[in-house]
Amino acid sequence: ASAGAGGGLGLLIALLVLFGGRERGPMADMHRALRNGEFIPHYQPIIDLDTGRILGCEVLVRWRKPDGRLIPPGAFIGEAERTGFIFPMTLAVMRQAAAELGPTYSARPELKCGFNLCAAHFRDQTIVTDVAAIFSHSDVALSQVLLEVTERDPLPDMDAARKIIARFQEMGVRVALDDVGTGHGGMSYLLKLRVDVMKIDKLFIDALGSERQSTAIVDSLIDLAAHLNMEVVAEGVETFDQVEALRRRGVRAAQGYVFAPPLPGSSFCQLVQAMEPVAMPQPPVRKALR
Ligand code: C2E
Ligand code: MG
Ligand code: MG
Ligand code: MG
Repeated sequence: ASAGAGGGLGLLIALLVLFGGRERGPMADMHRALRNGEFIPHYQPIIDLDTGRILGCEVLVRWRKPDGRLIPPGAFIGEAERTGFIFPMTLAVMRQAAAELGPTYSARPELKCGFNLCAAHFRDQTIVTDVAAIFSHSDVALSQVLLEVTERDPLPDMDAARKIIARFQEMGVRVALDDVGTGHGGMSYLLKLRVDVMKIDKLFIDALGSERQSTAIVDSLIDLAAHLNMEVVAEGVETFDQVEALRRRGVRAAQGYVFAPPLPGSSFCQLVQAMEPVAMPQPPVRKALR
């Protein structure tokens, strides 16, 4: 009798694990979190290297768990892409960013904000209608929007991607190729997609000026961008030496921890409204004697 009861209990536990587990799976978790407002845009300033002013920001999502922990996108974007959750999440992040930036951005039409899209967004035109709808009901203008497509992941349909990008550009939205240098599609994307901005990946910025290979690659990317009439943004700038190396090369725009990490909306808007150019980082004062 006791063995039978144990078996019954085992089955009950198995059923609970199976069905309870399904309801609490990562997908259901993410949808519940979205309804709960747990996906929060952060804003990393993009700095004009000539003037120290803020040119705009890149919007980077964080998952803020109910206990306050901030989960970085690297921990959930992959799963979100596999399950299709990325579609509602992207639109929710855009809507929230448009609302948060609206008051500041409507007063400063020159400011830009960049959003990351994933390869699957470039399969059909739905994203074009969605972006148009979000920003036509917002104080952020379409001309202030930059959409980033990463070179890291293969685009499923090059022709579709090309048409989608062209439609965005007709609406006044600009498009950037992100993580340039790290992907497999790099040169062919530049050949087939007419993008406006090239974001050079941190991988190459890290050793800029200190390692010959990285420096040569950055130099040739800058040259290529100039020939293709594209603007350059340097990603992941962490040191004053890198800032100097970029300025010497005529790169105008950069983002990185040397200026600011991704910030909550209120902090970013306060920074912009303070009107003060961000102080250019200065080289460390060297002691005359050691
Ligand atoms: P990304 O688009 O290349 O974004 C730049 C990443 O570099 C961000 O990481 C940013 O926080 C980080 N970063 C910026 N400056 C520095 C620096 O000086 N040093 C270092 N070590 N890192 C720096 P984050 O926020 O963790 O995002 C990682 C990636 O996740 C993004 O790379 C992007 O591909 C993806 N991602 C972020 N938000 C979204 C989103 O809303 N939608 C989609 N589809 N992808 C997103
Ligand atoms: Mg990006
Ligand atoms: Mg990037
Ligand atoms: Mg990157």
